[in-house]
Amino acid sequence: MLGIGIIKGMAVTAKNFFGSFVSKKWLPTVQYPEAGNTITAFSRNIPFLVYDKEDSPLETMRCVACKICEKECPPQCIYIVQEKDANGKLLKRPRIFDIDISVCMGCQICVEMCPFESIKMDSVFELSSENRFEGLLLHRENLLKSNSYYHQIHPQEAQEVDDRLAAKQKKAAATAAATTPSTPAP
Ligand code: SF4
Ligand code: SF4
Repeated sequence: MLGIGIIKGMAVTAKNFFGSFVSKKWLPTVQYPEAGNTITAFSRNIPFLVYDKEDSPLETMRCVACKICEKECPPQCIYIVQEKDANGKLLKRPRIFDIDISVCMGCQICVEMCPFESIKMDSVFELSSENRFEGLLLHRENLLKSNSYYHQIHPQEAQEVDDRLAAKQKKAAATAAATTPSTPAP
C-alpha cells in the first residue's frame, strides 16, 4: 500500500515518544558523554581497511588496489597509489591509501562497490583534531584494522563476510581442481 512505510515510521516515533514517559528503555537519546560509550553494532561512520592476520597487516590486507572505490566515491575523498616491487612491477596492494574524513560523508558506497570485502565501515568517534588538514587525512596505516576488530564492532556482518569469502575460496579451489589436467599414467 502506498505510504505504508511512512505510517510504520510514524508508529515507531509515536511509540518511543509516549513510551519515554513510562520507561527509560524507550528513550533513543542518551546524555553524552556522561552516559559513556553507547556505540551499538548498527553504528557506521567512516571506512577502514581489513587485514586478516594480526601480526602481518601489510601482507594480509585484503585490498588489491583495484581503485574501484576511489572511482565510485561521490565526493572523491579516497586517494590510492598502487605499490611496485624493486623492478617496477605493479603489486596487488596499495602503497598509498588515503581517506580525507573531513570530506567523507559516510555513504558506504565504497563498501558496497568493493569486490574483495576489503573496506568496511567503522564505529569510531571523537575524531576531532586541531589540524583541519593533516589531522583529518587518514593514511593506510591509520585505516588498517584486523578482521578480529571487525568481528568486535560488527559481529554478525563480519561473520557473514567470512562465510562469503570461505565459500568463494572453496568454489575457486573446486574449479582449479576440475581444470587441472591429470598426470598421465607411466
Ligand atoms: S563512505 Fe562514501 S564518502 Fe566516505 S569514502 Fe566511502 S564512498 Fe567516499
Ligand atoms: S578497498 Fe576494495 S575497491 Fe577499494 S581499491 Fe581496495 S580492493 Fe579495490
